[in-house]
Amino acid sequence: MDIWERYQAIEHDIEIELQKAGRPAGSARLLAVSKTKPLSQILALAAHGVTAFGENRVQELAEKVNACEAKLEWHLIGHLQRNKVRQLLKLPVALIHSVDSLRLAHELEKEAEKWDKQVNILVEVNIGGEESKSGVDPEQALTLVREIAGACPHLSIQGLMCVAPEKEDPEQVRPYFRGMRDLRDTIEAARIPGVSMKELSMGMSGDYRVALEEGATIIRVGTAIFGART
Ligand SMILES: *Cc1c(COP(=O)(O)O)cnc(C)c1O
Repeated sequence: MDIWERYQAIEHDIEIELQKAGRPAGSARLLAVSKTKPLSQILALAAHGVTAFGENRVQELAEKVNACEAKLEWHLIGHLQRNKVRQLLKLPVALIHSVDSLRLAHELEKEAEKWDKQVNILVEVNIGGEESKSGVDPEQALTLVREIAGACPHLSIQGLMCVAPEKEDPEQVRPYFRGMRDLRDTIEAARIPGVSMKELSMGMSGDYRVALEEGATIIRVGTAIFGART
């Protein structure tokens, strides 16, 4: 299978899993994670009408955006350092998936205000409580959402994101995805003005089916589309 065929196969899986879960058709979408892959492979998908791509480094995102003539929808999915915020907000970024602290949010707010931009963000949750991962602790997530909403009028919170712990059996990841969904419901129920919880960005190549069953609205898939990264 080529890249486009693999992309289509995953889109097909999405529809099947949504159906299985009793969710409406079209209620989840595929973000093609193109990190480390050349622009030519992005363009190969774009030629078929694919528009949404995820990168995990600001520098690489900037290089691709600047080299790419097509108007694509770029997502930043990787950990964001405060000293990269200036460079990031000069780029057309549709959604930042990885906001995990008030300090980072303040930095984004400052730059967004300067450019008079409204910036869409997700709050990243460290759902497995792993030392090695970024993300706010689940118990702190509601507080962080409240604080960002209160202090950062140029940031629009659209939902939550997580990178689940790696397990051999994707079934073992299910409780984490379920935890994310519960957390989303809890935050939604708090009805914080200006905050939407419509997006749940979770699920990657190894576990996207389970994530869809548990309510993912964006799955971030790299390897299963583009092949292994070196
Ligand atoms: C690399 C990456 C992905 C995609 O991972 P695959 O296993 O290649 O599908 C998803 N989310 C984040 C945050 C990533 O860094």
